[in-house]
Amino acid sequence: MTTYHGKCHCGELEWDVLVQPDQANHILCHCNTCQTLSGGTYTLNQIVPLDAFKVTKGEDKVKKYTYYGDSGKAVNCYYCSNCTTSPYHQQEILEGKIILRTGLLDGPRETFQPSAEIYGKDRHSWEKEVATTFDAMPS
Ligand SMILES: [Zn+2]
Ligand SMILES: [Zn+2]
Repeated sequence: MTTYHGKCHCGELEWDVLVQPDQANHILCHCNTCQTLSGGTYTLNQIVPLDAFKVTKGEDKVKKYTYYGDSGKAVNCYYCSNCTTSPYHQQEILEGKIILRTGLLDGPRETFQPSAEIYGKDRHSWEKEVATTFDAMPS
């Protein structure tokens, strides 16, 4: 396993996360919520245990935004209150786990590959498939 470091755009918030070898890849999420929150076409994610994640700087800068997902359960998005970068989300249905934004980590740019794509139903028509795609969230 490897510890990766991440930081927000303004630099006030930093974190460390312990990643197991089988988690060292990106799950691309094309859902409408990711498109709105990121302003892009998809987000880069991985599911890791909550206790693998630690804020190392700026804990007092972390704010929470809550919305309700397809399941009707709460999804809490944690973000830097200064620059809005969001290092992770926590879904009520995934107890003890978080959805980590893998694109914000130092290092994986060269080493992490796409392992799956979810919410392919919301994919922009011009986007090429780069990994096995699921229509929504695989169960
Ligand atoms: Zn920030
Ligand atoms: Zn999404």
